[in-house]
Amino acid sequence: MKIIGISGTNSSDSPTEKLVNFMAQHFASQVEFEVIELKGLPMFNESNDLSNQEPLKSLVAKIEAADGVVIATSEHNRSIPSALNSFLEWMSFTVHPFDEKPVMVVGTSVTRQGSASAQLHLRQVLDAPGVNALVLPGNEFLLGQATEAFDENGAIKEANTVDFLESCFANFLRFIKAADSLQIPDEVRFEPGDYQVKTKGHNGDLPMVVSFSENRIEDIKVDTSGETEGIADTVFERLPQEIIAGQTLNVDAVSGASVTSYGLIDGVAQAVKLAGVDPNILKKRPKPSKSQDLSPLEYETDVVVVGGGGAGLAAASRVLQAGKSTIVLEKFPALGGNTVRAGGPMNAADPDWQKQFAALPGEASVLKEMLDYDLAKIDPEYQADFKALQGQIKDYLAGKADYLFDSILWHRIQTYLGGKRVDLNGNEIHGDYDLVKVLTDHALESVKWLADLGVEFDESQVTMPVGAKWRRGHKPMESQGFAFIKTLKKFIEEHEAGQILTETPVKRFLLDEQGQICGVVALNAANRQVIVKAKAVILASGGFGANTKMVQKYNTYWSQVDDDIATSNSPAITGDGIKLGQSVGAALVGMGFTQMMPVSDPKTGELFSGLQVPPANYVMVNQQGKRFVDEYEGRDVLTKAAFDNGGLFYLIADDEIKKTAYNTTQASLDAQVEAGTLFRADTLADLAKQIKVDPQTFEETIAKYNSYVDAGVDPEFGKEVFDLKVVKPPFYATPRKPAIHHTMGGLKINTKAQVINEAGQVIPNLYAAGEVAGGIHAGNRLGGNSLTDIFTYGRIAAKTALEKM
Ligand SMILES: Cc1cc2nc3c(=O)[nH]c(=O)nc-3n(C[C@H](O)[C@H](O)[C@H](O)COP(=O)(O)OP(=O)(O)OC[C@H]3O[C@@H](n4cnc5c(N)ncnc54)[C@H](O)[C@@H]3O)c2cc1C
Repeated sequence: MKIIGISGTNSSDSPTEKLVNFMAQHFASQVEFEVIELKGLPMFNESNDLSNQEPLKSLVAKIEAADGVVIATSEHNRSIPSALNSFLEWMSFTVHPFDEKPVMVVGTSVTRQGSASAQLHLRQVLDAPGVNALVLPGNEFLLGQATEAFDENGAIKEANTVDFLESCFANFLRFIKAADSLQIPDEVRFEPGDYQVKTKGHNGDLPMVVSFSENRIEDIKVDTSGETEGIADTVFERLPQEIIAGQTLNVDAVSGASVTSYGLIDGVAQAVKLAGVDPNILKKRPKPSKSQDLSPLEYETDVVVVGGGGAGLAAASRVLQAGKSTIVLEKFPALGGNTVRAGGPMNAADPDWQKQFAALPGEASVLKEMLDYDLAKIDPEYQADFKALQGQIKDYLAGKADYLFDSILWHRIQTYLGGKRVDLNGNEIHGDYDLVKVLTDHALESVKWLADLGVEFDESQVTMPVGAKWRRGHKPMESQGFAFIKTLKKFIEEHEAGQILTETPVKRFLLDEQGQICGVVALNAANRQVIVKAKAVILASGGFGANTKMVQKYNTYWSQVDDDIATSNSPAITGDGIKLGQSVGAALVGMGFTQMMPVSDPKTGELFSGLQVPPANYVMVNQQGKRFVDEYEGRDVLTKAAFDNGGLFYLIADDEIKKTAYNTTQASLDAQVEAGTLFRADTLADLAKQIKVDPQTFEETIAKYNSYVDAGVDPEFGKEVFDLKVVKPPFYATPRKPAIHHTMGGLKINTKAQVINEAGQVIPNLYAAGEVAGGIHAGNRLGGNSLTDIFTYGRIAAKTALEKM
């Protein structure tokens, strides 16, 4: 069951907010409880309707999808706070998400007097036409003297008060069930036939055909070709089936694929209307029924893996290769986490393969810089490798130097130098030598391991994702990170000893009598506890890039992380594994350093919208139409430069550059041009007008850039590696802005992927791999190094767990 908790105030750390947060934590084992905040919402304004725009749009969707809503209010002049009042005005103006929604009212007051008047006021508002909520009668929970009511962990101190809250909440859950069963379906009569409709999916149009008999929706056929493989698959498998089985449009969006989910529901609603029935009748019908059995489910396995992204599936596959059993618990309906979103290139030095590619202009000078580099600036543990690398570079430059150079040492030193940073407090960080050595030594082995399992790599090209600093990316033939997830999933499913349970977020560890980890406890979509006993637990739950609060809490690197910053991450990536590790005393490392992706979609944080091309082909212009940075720089330099230039900037491409873009179809580009999220013009002057920069300045910028490509030298910003010029129409401008992309910090691990506690000791039976672990990438992760990390340390975690059994 899904509950939304709303703290009816916009002030931080208020007792009202504490009460909702306490409820979210306290009832987490019974329901999925999400807290939403009113902070930062626009004040209600009748003449400027924003209810269908962000951030209100997402809140409407969340309330509509919830089974019930808890609203906490404080009291101001015997009525509710103005922030809550304004919010409820939005929610009853042109949208009505509270219509027949079960709501529980709770209140806090700093005095003994309580918040009875405000709660009564809130009930009246909720009951008013336009809002029309179903308010839980009685069960008035008021927390008086609320500033003293919580302990330092945010828990309510008084046991009696907690008991009363529990009993009110239990009544609320009963009320929700009763309200659900009272929804009497209206009679409907469709005009039978097949109706063709088109709505918006995630990547563009989502066409579908919905078939009706007189009384039923009989079939929903969706053309899924435009949507991202892997992420949206669950939507197409699940929603049509639920809609048809329940003859209802009151179905939950699939977490992580909400845009596609709402697109599909909207499409069916359109078809229902064409078939002569009011879709609201189907939207008000009860949700498809779920099993009422709430007894725990118990499993036993050798290794339980928390998280079904790349690291988790690699670890599970490695366990199966050794003939042992494994269960993967995945929080979301679809596997893949951030891995499925990845562009695909995975770094590994493979000089024999790279030799066949010609060197690009500028690459030799990057290598020469290493010969002139001051050895004193290299940390002692890396110096021997650095000197050996200098020897390799000298040998290479002594020849024709016309092919692409690479070596494990070059990869290692670039990972180290690329990650070495100083934070705002003057603290220096660089990658742990042992962890970086293992990563770079075993990188190619990971590529080969994946290839053996069936991932097909495109050996005809060596790629370099943004911020990678060198061309050593092995890119799968199939689209994006899905290529890895699909292969590993198939491998696990083919083994009887392997099991994958989706929609089963892990909540805590199972501890034995000695307090040692012996499994995990999760909660599945049917609200049943899932208890998995295991000899080892591998945490592979990813980082915390989708948890802005957590990024802000630990941040020591960026001068500011805005509340409304976008992220390129899956919404599942909220730092769960890090918190689980902390619950058993794990040490954390490098948490203050997060990576922004400079070239993200300004609104959605997405990476692969517009024309995303290799940095040798980037031309970045600011809102004045001028270049402002060496486009070949690392991600944090690009991000800082973007922030200094107002955040928003444009990637310029021409028809030839377009051919080097990642994962782009003509149809999706056309759809973006039509939607106004990508600009296209036959002349540079026209393009300049579209992006609102001075045409003359813009034309001069591009002419200068083209002359630098010809000369192989950029006197303005020092770009050293170029490929194509901007010459052939049509020209494109892709708007970009930095978004949270990667969290380098995480659980402290050793080279065997064992988790280390605050005292520097190994925590028995606990392993971590992938973005949940810290220490490798330090202050900045090179593009393409994460996939190498997750598949290398995922395998290592499994290997160690098996050895220790
Ligand atoms: C848009 C994008 C593009 C990228 N491109 C590249 C690239 O081209 N090359 C590269 O090297 N790197 C790339 N990266 C980085 C890389 O994809 C990630 O760092 C990497 O995939 C992380 O893998 P992981 O297995 O550690 O975590 P994830 O793949 O994120 O998987 C973690 C999984 O754990 C699940 N989970 C979370 N909490 C729980 C819980 N409590 N219980 C159960 N399950 C849980 C999540 O739902 C998720 O499925 C990219 C990242 C993004 C966001």
